[in-house]
Amino acid sequence: MPDTQSLPLKKWSVSVEHRREDVRRMFLGAIAPSQRAKVEESLAAGRYTGVGLHAWLDSIISEETYLPSEIPPSLVQAYFDYPEALPLHNCENCGLHIPIVPSPLYGFEGETDHVLFPTCPSCGGRTGWYLPHMAAGQKSGH
Ligand SMILES: [Zn+2]
Repeated sequence: MPDTQSLPLKKWSVSVEHRREDVRRMFLGAIAPSQRAKVEESLAAGRYTGVGLHAWLDSIISEETYLPSEIPPSLVQAYFDYPEALPLHNCENCGLHIPIVPSPLYGFEGETDHVLFPTCPSCGGRTGWYLPHMAAGQKSGH
């Protein structure tokens, strides 16, 4: 059995899974108690349910965005109201990812049909496509 050959890859994927589970727990902890069960359900149901919540969680895991200590309920509600919403905008002030409803005509990189939050529900900053932000200590070392 070529067990030794697959060991490094195994180790790596185990730590990714650990991180995913840790971040998922923190993410759920930051969500308002009244919404938590529903979000947990969407995350458990697979990627075609709550696709935006999955994308958001992924971007927190990969450190593209940060996890606020308390996620504004209006932000979570947007994912419930618009199942196709995706976290494609971000806040120029705090870097929070903001959901929009992508236009079915132009896809993710074109015009947006629906800007749900012209200002950040967490800090009131401006939101938009990949706005630069100065989140403290978030610069990656590339
Ligand atoms: Zn903000």
